[in-house]
Amino acid sequence: MRAFGQWRVWQRALASVAVLGALGLSVGCSCRTPSVARSSPRKVDAHVHAGPAAVPHLVRLMDAHGLDVAVNLSGGWLGAGLDESLAAAAATRGRVVVLANPPLGALRAGGPDAVTRMAAQLAEVKEKGAKGLKFFKSLGLGARWPDGTLVAVDDPSLDPLFERAGALGLPVAIHTADPVAFWDPVTPANERFDELSVHPDWSYAGKDVPSWTALYDAFLRRVARHPRTTFIGVHFGNAPEDPARVERALDAYPNLFVDTAARVPELGRHAPTLLRALLVKHPDRVLFGTDLGVGVEEFDLMLGSTGAERPTAADVERFFGATWRYFETTDVDFEHPTPIQGRWRISGLGLGRELLDRLYAANAVRVFALERTAPWGR
Ligand SMILES: [Zn+2]
Repeated sequence: MRAFGQWRVWQRALASVAVLGALGLSVGCSCRTPSVARSSPRKVDAHVHAGPAAVPHLVRLMDAHGLDVAVNLSGGWLGAGLDESLAAAAATRGRVVVLANPPLGALRAGGPDAVTRMAAQLAEVKEKGAKGLKFFKSLGLGARWPDGTLVAVDDPSLDPLFERAGALGLPVAIHTADPVAFWDPVTPANERFDELSVHPDWSYAGKDVPSWTALYDAFLRRVARHPRTTFIGVHFGNAPEDPARVERALDAYPNLFVDTAARVPELGRHAPTLLRALLVKHPDRVLFGTDLGVGVEEFDLMLGSTGAERPTAADVERFFGATWRYFETTDVDFEHPTPIQGRWRISGLGLGRELLDRLYAANAVRVFALERTAPWGR
């Protein structure tokens, strides 16, 4: 069944972190979910995924939920979807912008020569309109060299790619590792048991991959090695379970930024005072992002994660409503945006208007150079 097939595409995309391809023809959407009260006039979602055919659906969701601009992290690459992604984004007149995905699968056959080719292509990637690069977690966990070894996040052979991105002013978003619990045995005691039960292939327990800590340390070495390259550590710097660790990284590396994508459930478990203090200390370094994934059909959605069934209108409403509630209110002990990520409740940060404006929009505008393309800038 086609609808089910597309749903499987989402699940595979999340599991294998494949670049989303065209997902079919657009269909009508009656996205009439009521808007949640908006405390900020501008919101840039710095982390979404949508194939080219799904961009009209993405924009309808943005309209329904108060998102002015979305950064699509699944833009593809030259000859592999980037032109189509950029054309779909261009049709939105600045509402959607695109990051390109260096094709790490090419390293298996091409080795370091493939890196040289990718680095040489970056100028064209920028010229065509991509606002930056996004590396999926396959860097460190899936991509391999010709001899079969995994490509380490900090492999020196990749240096030219990151150096060239910095020279061209292309920011680089990196997803490294995954929730820490994905390395633990999949038992009811695992705090991600619900999610891992639906997606057993997301577990790294017992698999021949680096430890979580080894991956994270390699990510920081990568950031440290290219001080003139801007990095966005997605999913709250790839360490949402440990904000103190993220704070140390932000202290140490001024070229590092983090986004909040799919990690409000994690962040909301910590004492709000802890996260507020981090945001006060580094108000320009945290970008709001949702990890919203959008397919062509109305409820072909990833709301930070996916479950066994497609989400409902109520799920969509909770996803956005609990997100605003987390950042904007001091409410305590409420349901988080993505229940499958864990059976706990969260408490809100109650950020003031100035911090919210930076988090929701200004930081992403600066990092992705949206000054002239954002819909309010024309
Ligand atoms: Zn994502």
